[in-house]
Amino acid sequence: METVTAAIPASSVTVEEFIQTYANHPVYLPPRGPQLHAKNWQSEAALRMFLNNLTAEVAENPEKLVVYGGIGQAARTPQDARKIVELLLTLEEDESLLVQSGKPVGKVRTHAEAPRVLIANSNLVPHWATWEHFNNLRERGLMMYGQMTAGSWIYIGTQGILQGTYETFAACGRIHFNGDLRHRLLVTGGLGGMGGAQPLAATMAGATFLGVDVDPERIKKRLETRYLDKMTYDYREAMRLVLAAKDKGEAISVGLVGDIGDVLEQMLQDGITPDILTDQTSAHDPINGYVPNGFSLEEARQLRESDPEQYRQKSLKSMARHVGFMLELQRRGSKTFDYGNNLREFAQQGGEPYAFQINGFVPEYMRPLFCEGKGPFRWAALSGDPEDIRVTDEALKELFPENTHMINWLEQAQEKVAFQGLPCRICWLGMGEREKAGLLFNRLVREGKVKAPLVIGRDHLDCGSVASPYRETEGMLDGSDAVSDWPLLNLMANTSGGATWVSFHHGGGVGIGYSQHAGMVVLADGTDRADRCLSRVLHNDPALGIYRHADAGYETAQQNAAKFGLQI
Ligand code: NAD
Repeated sequence: METVTAAIPASSVTVEEFIQTYANHPVYLPPRGPQLHAKNWQSEAALRMFLNNLTAEVAENPEKLVVYGGIGQAARTPQDARKIVELLLTLEEDESLLVQSGKPVGKVRTHAEAPRVLIANSNLVPHWATWEHFNNLRERGLMMYGQMTAGSWIYIGTQGILQGTYETFAACGRIHFNGDLRHRLLVTGGLGGMGGAQPLAATMAGATFLGVDVDPERIKKRLETRYLDKMTYDYREAMRLVLAAKDKGEAISVGLVGDIGDVLEQMLQDGITPDILTDQTSAHDPINGYVPNGFSLEEARQLRESDPEQYRQKSLKSMARHVGFMLELQRRGSKTFDYGNNLREFAQQGGEPYAFQINGFVPEYMRPLFCEGKGPFRWAALSGDPEDIRVTDEALKELFPENTHMINWLEQAQEKVAFQGLPCRICWLGMGEREKAGLLFNRLVREGKVKAPLVIGRDHLDCGSVASPYRETEGMLDGSDAVSDWPLLNLMANTSGGATWVSFHHGGGVGIGYSQHAGMVVLADGTDRADRCLSRVLHNDPALGIYRHADAGYETAQQNAAKFGLQI
């Protein structure tokens, strides 16, 4: 039997009617349920996930097509978004759509097991790979910033980063605090699209949490989605709350409106030293992300428009000041780490010579997981029914009964994570596990245990898909931090393996000039074709991570290569 779900015929809605209902800028909605609107489930999946990226519950700013991470967009302009929808509705199974920095530019002849969409975002020839050149092109309408999962249509709201953040905080707890974060205060800046995962991840890991954001609307959004417990505009009140909770060992989270630099300065003056200190402001983008010290949001907006160069200079100076305070707190005992936003580099440019005395989170906490091919495996229920995610959660628990860490995570996530947009789940899985999980999900679809197909993807922040010397590939054993052949090989492996859409991006996470990375999403629609594609892609993708780390000399990766038959 091929598939139950594909048997439901395409709806008779016209392209124009579809756009009025689901893609009427700035109101984007992913269709739900088992009915097809496109010509096949592969295009339908891309269509639903594209619209899901832009829907109000998920995207930070649908009006500007911004999904997360500063100016990370899903399409370049509203006209491009509309055209992408039109093309996905009519795409045949032997065609693939080409998307260049958020603009659909053509279709190529392919075949049923090839990706339906081929995406390249924000790529520049290295010599010209600067924010300055990029922003000039962007202003002229020639490019957009794709971040990681914004332009590759597999952002799933703040949950996407939640488990990675939880894993990072838990690893920090294991390494520095005997695995117990109770009675520990964690302080950070930035509660935006990604940074907004920090309060819930911290409290799930047992810590008391203080997050500082200059924009009250961002903090309110985290309260609404239950990622954050309390919000205040008052520094003294915030300190009273967190210090009392820390004393009692209560895992609560507080969001404070303010400039992170000012708050750290005040904490230093008050002699308050957090146990853990990090940052997730949009430091990767000194013009459109970070807000300089002393500026209201409105003043920042005006200067950004009237004099971007002056804005940049002020941003760099503020980051230097901010990192100066972090370094002082580190000296006083805070376990301090850079959280992948390139804050150290821009602080150095702004005049803080010791910025890189703060370590990156990947070499500190993530690399051992990468050596097992582990990374942010995620999936979404195209039916839109949360019950489908519950079914997948339970099926995974049955499939991996020995993986108590994963089971604990899934149970906490079921209880505490509010879905945004299409229901989805994230759960870090490694080599071998991902393929098994993918085939299991395809069986659930085939047997009608879930109401429509599932899509499986991942963040680009994965074991074998990124070259990012200030983040994922910082401090590689053999010094190969900046070698970007690996993400290209990852892209090629996933394209030839039959992912449903693939992407290659530049500048995600740490900004233009600092990273290159590849993404993939693969569909489980219950068909035999999906079995073949899932099996190849979900084997190859983590295998690239093991090859990359084994080649760099990591012993655990070499052992895993032997264990999984990946030696050559
Ligand atoms: P975002 O733009 O949605 O949010 C950034 C937040 O920082 C905003 O709410 C903004 O108001 C706040 N902010 C800016 N300047 C501030 C200041 N001076 N003081 C206090 N708050 C300030 O971005 P995001 O999606 O949350 O991503 C945050 C950063 O983390 C980005 O640089 C991103 O590239 C990086 N990132 C890290 C990881 C990771 O795994 N570590 C993953 C993805 C992204």
